Amino acid sequence: MMMAKSDVIELPPHLTVRELAQKLDVSAIDLIKTLMNVGVMASLNQTIDYETAEIVAAELGKEVRLAVPETEEKEEEAGELPLWRQWLLAEPAARLRPRPPVVAILGHVDHGKTTLLDAIRNTNVAAREAGGITQHISAYQVEHDGRTITFLDTPGHAAFTSLRARGAKGADIVVLVVAADDGVMPQTREAIAHAKAAQVPIVVAINKIDKPNAQPDRVRQQLSDLGLVPQEWGGDTIMVEISAKQRLNLDELLEAILLVADTADIRANPQGRVFGTVIEAQVKKGQGVVATLLVQNGTLKVGDVLVAGTTYGKVRALMDFRGKRIKQAGPSTPVAMLGFHDIPEAGSLFYKVKNEKEARQIVEERLEAQKRQAQQAAAPRMSLEDFFKSLQEGKVKELPLVVKVDVQGSLEPVVKAIEEVSERNEAKVRILHADVGNITENDIMLAAASNGVVIGFNVKADAAARKVAEREGVSIRTYRVIYDLLHDIEKALRGLLEPEKQEVILGEAEVLAVFPSSRFGKVAGGRVRRGVIRRNARVRVLRDDQVLFDGEIGSLKRFQEDVREVREGFEFGIGLKGFKDFQVGDRLIAYTVESAPAA
Ligand code: GDP
Repeated sequence: MMMAKSDVIELPPHLTVRELAQKLDVSAIDLIKTLMNVGVMASLNQTIDYETAEIVAAELGKEVRLAVPETEEKEEEAGELPLWRQWLLAEPAARLRPRPPVVAILGHVDHGKTTLLDAIRNTNVAAREAGGITQHISAYQVEHDGRTITFLDTPGHAAFTSLRARGAKGADIVVLVVAADDGVMPQTREAIAHAKAAQVPIVVAINKIDKPNAQPDRVRQQLSDLGLVPQEWGGDTIMVEISAKQRLNLDELLEAILLVADTADIRANPQGRVFGTVIEAQVKKGQGVVATLLVQNGTLKVGDVLVAGTTYGKVRALMDFRGKRIKQAGPSTPVAMLGFHDIPEAGSLFYKVKNEKEARQIVEERLEAQKRQAQQAAAPRMSLEDFFKSLQEGKVKELPLVVKVDVQGSLEPVVKAIEEVSERNEAKVRILHADVGNITENDIMLAAASNGVVIGFNVKADAAARKVAEREGVSIRTYRVIYDLLHDIEKALRGLLEPEKQEVILGEAEVLAVFPSSRFGKVAGGRVRRGVIRRNARVRVLRDDQVLFDGEIGSLKRFQEDVREVREGFEFGIGLKGFKDFQVGDRLIAYTVESAPAA
């Protein structure tokens, strides 16, 4: 008997027995009895997987299906496993088969990621087949010891972009490249943080071992300090000394990858639901959209209809990484695919649907949802206040933090102090990343991925970071006094935090002249470019976007008169408490600190 569409109940990959009872509209007692009938002893609050739920639902005469997520955003908001991992968990265990491990290569710029990817490719991949269609595909597979390994060549060579972070999400293993002559650098630390956030094991490649100034043990020491202790020192991280340039020890590295793969559960169901991750996509002349896809479950075939984000399409052609046309591709296989109507976002999940009608419907629903979201004001994802609210409601037990400090010397003490606060409380802090320097876009992305908060000690957030934070709804809190920082974290963990203070920019002025002053040393003459400068406001002095001073106004005058405020377009004289090194062209930003409106 065919059931009307509205009778199909959508279920998440995991849910509690109580939730399932509600969804199926049956009493909890009946549900627990049915569970017992199929051999599952579960209490009300116990979580069961989709597979079990489906069996129970069938027993109760209900039709269910795995819920299609609205967008990938949801997954990130939940700060949980990547969607594809959740979907894999919903596959029947008996059908899972080993699949090749998928490896992403991460590391600081110039430490040799590209050289290593090329070296492995050139040593282990047979030459491009004659007659193959020249197609750049940003992933490839190699054979080692009769086993296959898939490498992702994630774009973004210059900087550690969010794309690389997404690459780490699709991978089973991260190879962290650290140059032996340079050691651990900021992007090394970011890469570790990303891999940890995605719960992906790390193999370390200590590169450039051929260089005379290589110091591999220094790298081992630095990584140990970050919690990656080499096996030879009694830890559980495999570290291989290599030279990507001279192709030294590449076999050992591949061996290490396979070893780690053996300890991880790297399986999929070749017969199951077809889904995977979009690695990269672009429009090519005469071909339309060419997408590089990593199949992660099921077997993708020509003619299948796929949805990815807000685009869809029928698979017109598939090419393997050598450019050879293929008819189908199983788990862990990278393919170039022709057929999407629009460019899907790198990192997004793709999956097969029944037909183009269903695909159109899903995409339309998603576009609608996006529109609705855009109409609502961007609500912060997580602030310290939200954290303790969720804490009180029993929704979270962990506060993920990205910590940035001004100087190396304060990094360890600050982190240690935060950890001590964490230990004293039932709710815990989880430090995603701690480093020296201003708050950057990457810090925000990192916090966003785990639903965390960015904490700064004597540092500022740069303009790009502020923009991304606003877009992603990530809260940034900066402190000048360690006591305040710890106090706030303590309060957040206990659920006692006051409403957040936020800066409101009043106006901006430019320094046109500098005069000596007996009271302040020097005072500045300027003109208000935008808004207003108020006598009781705080002022930041900026030169080339560097903040030189942040403090109070000592005097504000128009002609010799003290004034309460100066408006846009007018000139004024200003003296600052504790700053006199004005230069013509400096920018003055006036702002006040107010309580944020309650969320
Ligand atoms: P990426 O930014 O991490 O992708 O780094 P690249 O692969 O572009 O390498 C940066 C530079 O380091 C290039 O000039 C490479 O030739 C050089 N390099 C990479 N691996 C090695 C190595 O093992 N030994 C030496 N001596 N140089 C290397």
